[in-house]
Amino acid sequence: MSTLNCGLLLCRIVSMKTSFRNLPAVDKVLSDERISRLEGYPHELLVGIIRQRLEQERESILAGRPCASLDDIVTSVTDWLEMLEKPGLRRVVNASGVIIHTNLGRAPLSEAALAAMEAVSRGYADLEFDLESGTRGSRHVHIESLLCRLTGAEAALVVNNNAAAVLLGLTALANRKEVIVSRGQAVEIGGGFRIPDVMRQSGAKLVEVGTTNRTYAADYEQAITPRTAALMRVHSSNFRLVGFTSEATLEEMITTAKKHDVIVMDDVGSGCLLDTTVYGLAPEPMVQVSVSNGAGLTFFSGDKLVGGPQAGIIVGQKQYIEKLKKHPLARALRIDKTRLAGLVATVTHYLKGEATTKIPVWRMIAAPLKDIESRADLWAQALGGSAKVIPGETMVGGGSLPGGSLPTKLLAISGGKNIQAISRKLRQRDVPVIGRIDKDRLLLDPRTVLPEEDEIVVQALQEIAIKQK
Ligand SMILES: *Cc1c(COP(=O)(O)O)cnc(C)c1O
Repeated sequence: MSTLNCGLLLCRIVSMKTSFRNLPAVDKVLSDERISRLEGYPHELLVGIIRQRLEQERESILAGRPCASLDDIVTSVTDWLEMLEKPGLRRVVNASGVIIHTNLGRAPLSEAALAAMEAVSRGYADLEFDLESGTRGSRHVHIESLLCRLTGAEAALVVNNNAAAVLLGLTALANRKEVIVSRGQAVEIGGGFRIPDVMRQSGAKLVEVGTTNRTYAADYEQAITPRTAALMRVHSSNFRLVGFTSEATLEEMITTAKKHDVIVMDDVGSGCLLDTTVYGLAPEPMVQVSVSNGAGLTFFSGDKLVGGPQAGIIVGQKQYIEKLKKHPLARALRIDKTRLAGLVATVTHYLKGEATTKIPVWRMIAAPLKDIESRADLWAQALGGSAKVIPGETMVGGGSLPGGSLPTKLLAISGGKNIQAISRKLRQRDVPVIGRIDKDRLLLDPRTVLPEEDEIVVQALQEIAIKQK
């Protein structure tokens, strides 16, 4: 080592020692005025947070950084405590123009669903209790007959989410066997749900057939062996293949499967129960069609186009559903009473023919353009002239209707270089308002905002208008 390096090292050791000496004791931090005046926190909590912070500081000094000041350490302790006062998971207003926005919590719930969820969670519920006989019951009975009536299926089962539903179906029926999937459908849905990975986890062997762009019924037929358990269709819900493409139809798959006595599993993803073409949207595979065509099992999410709470819904033939119910994984993947109650209420809306007036995602899809325009005008007035109402598009999102969009009217706020700052201001409110930035404009879409939230948006915009003056 050169003399110079040696000197530098010595210097560092000396400064490190000084830094460690400067590190305050726990008691010193505790007695700082900003901490000692705090009330309502257990002593052990304060000591625990301070110790953890000091430990971080020691590591940082060892890494050669200078010691933080007492003031910095106290601030980081009070910042941590602030999390206890402000909930980490908060309500936001979704003006992003994506109806089923996974990062913003997917479907907002109907009033009836919310009321049902509150009613069963405030106290106890007959979740697994038969009120008639006074003995143990099953959590499945509350929803099964409703789902069967709605979809035409013989049997139904609800679990934690659709990823869990597919995993359960494959594990219970195809473990150590082969499942044939079109190459164009062995996809990643987003959020880490990849068909090949789920397949591996279930113990089923994925057999890919066809090519990325074209798969025919004959491709499935040729791949069937004595070890084949199922043919599986996966709705390519977040992308669209265009051009020279072809997929075998579900009917063709079912005909092929029947010939060889294997089951067809159909992951329809978003779980569309109403005809989307009525609203000018592309057709989305409907659950009822999957069932009536004869799929053995049909899987879909509760919180996408169904418009309910997070859930994985499985409908299909009784012999298969019974196997799933009895599998040990069903217990590990089960749904809780709160979401089950919300789903029962949501499904009830469909049965009563009131889905498009009661379920928020369908209200948004069905909202007439002129209503959206007048709300956008109202928002524009709040901003006082510095914004324009322009035509745009709302995405349905959430892994449904890839490429499908609805016409809308957007409030376009132009702010040049300031646009990021304006967008941040809206996000940092007590109830954050989330828009989307397009070049140097911030776009806010009334279609994805619940009408009862207009007031929040208007107030937020008025405050921006005042600051801009
Ligand atoms: C969204 C989606 C899933 C995953 O559903 P979760 O409810 O998010 O677990 C699986 N398959 C398809 C086709 C999907 O669109």
